[in-house]
Amino acid sequence: MADGLRLDTLEIRLGGRCMVALDAHVAPGEVLTVMGPSGSGKSTLLAAITGALDPAFALSGRILLDGEDVTALPTERRRIGILFQDELLFPHLSVGGNLAFGLTPSLRGRAARRKRIDSALQQIGLEGFASRDPATLSGGQKARVALMRTLLADPRALLLDEPFSRLDAARRGQIRELVFARAKAQRLPVLLVTHDREDACAAGGAVIELGA
Ligand code: ADP
Ligand code: MG
Repeated sequence: MADGLRLDTLEIRLGGRCMVALDAHVAPGEVLTVMGPSGSGKSTLLAAITGALDPAFALSGRILLDGEDVTALPTERRRIGILFQDELLFPHLSVGGNLAFGLTPSLRGRAARRKRIDSALQQIGLEGFASRDPATLSGGQKARVALMRTLLADPRALLLDEPFSRLDAARRGQIRELVFARAKAQRLPVLLVTHDREDACAAGGAVIELGA
């Protein structure tokens, strides 16, 4: 059932104080933006959704993915993709190796995997980059590889933790459009957290504000 991501009366508390309270539904192919200043709990919210919440926090409510309650599942069984501000490519692997790392194990056979990686590189305008060292890429190119690595894992939802804020103005709009277009093409529900109103506008979906 393609229901997308549902946050059912989700509450995150720290030392008795409620930091985040959210009730939301993100349909497949749609973007929900959660805005808030630094320290308002945006990254903490995403950690709760991926199942990586620090035990210092208390979580209540439910997280549903396509109708499945994943609240008690370990991170690896949730199949949620996340992109951070710093593009975390593995420095000891080539660009192709980084993408292969993301590739779902259900795709079998060396030739088939190779082909999938080449087509992924083509989709992000980096044809022929498979053997390149990530250190030789520009910030925008790294961001594109990180996006593709996340998408190749065939996630059920995509979370974005201010992934555009490090990019220069010229690249920023370009990468933003690519991320939203790819997520839409894969019919992923997207949750974007940001303190940047321009990101929220570009996302084009509903916006929820977190208090400081
Ligand atoms: P944002 O991403 O909106 O900038 P965070 O979610 O990173 O905010 O942090 C929200 C608040 O929770 C901050 O006050 C931060 O100091 C606090 N915090 C973050 N991680 C922990 C932790 N592991 N233990 C205790 N407090 C934390
Ligand atoms: Mg943060």
